[in-house]
Amino acid sequence: MRRVRVPTERERGYDWILGRVAAVVGDLLNDVPDCDVVGIGSPGSLSRHRGTLKNSNTLCLNGRPLAADLETRLGLAVVLENDANCFALAEAMLGAGRGHELVFGVILGTGVGGGIVVGGKLWSGPQDIAGEWGHHVVDPAGPRCYCGERGCVETMLCGPALEADHVAAGGPPCGAAAVAARATAGDETAARVLERYLDRFGRALANVVNILDPAVVVLGGGLSNLACLYTLGRDAVARHVFNDELTTPIVPNELGDSAGVVGAALLTARGGRRRRGT
Ligand SMILES: [Zn+2]
Repeated sequence: MRRVRVPTERERGYDWILGRVAAVVGDLLNDVPDCDVVGIGSPGSLSRHRGTLKNSNTLCLNGRPLAADLETRLGLAVVLENDANCFALAEAMLGAGRGHELVFGVILGTGVGGGIVVGGKLWSGPQDIAGEWGHHVVDPAGPRCYCGERGCVETMLCGPALEADHVAAGGPPCGAAAVAARATAGDETAARVLERYLDRFGRALANVVNILDPAVVVLGGGLSNLACLYTLGRDAVARHVFNDELTTPIVPNELGDSAGVVGAALLTARGGRRRRGT
């Protein structure tokens, strides 16, 4: 496997992103010249009746025929799926969710997403919004989300939210890992901010567990490296779940930040919603 990673530089707009993806695929095609289909994991999902992207936190992608445009650019068929769904599928088949009947995959990073895999198959739902716990409202008085609501899980649990909360509480600007490290080292401000974050995490994830009762929850994204999610965070889920105990394993991913692309590749092998040649 060869791995190439480039920033999309989304601030430069839709056509720029298409060019970045095309450049990466063009580079990789040197290794696999007989490739005829490309798997793409993207925030958001394709509208089934319009064929355009929706619900992406990369706002310039919304309303655009991303898969069709990529097919034109690449000259190849494209299978496009929500990035959190790709993550969940990869972890369910090849990673920390292996052998479990129902896997809920969670992305906690600059955004928050989720994906559901049942019996080895991705469940994206008839509207392709299954698993989108990132836009459950947990605080109607919370910050405005790009989706139009306030206090969504994404706006409360993403990395930038934790960092902003730390600054608002009087702490210095620093990343989520540094906030956690400061808390562990005894900094009271960081500890208070982290405790608030973990309680929100517990409340939000307990809502999902109450509905799905997954066999396992696999965490991905940059914040999944925070060890406290699996101890104090898990305790917070247990406090809020509608049960007298929490037996659900909450575990870190095994595939690292390659899980999303692995999941997208798995979908091409399985004849996912291929847009051309089916
Ligand atoms: Zn939202």
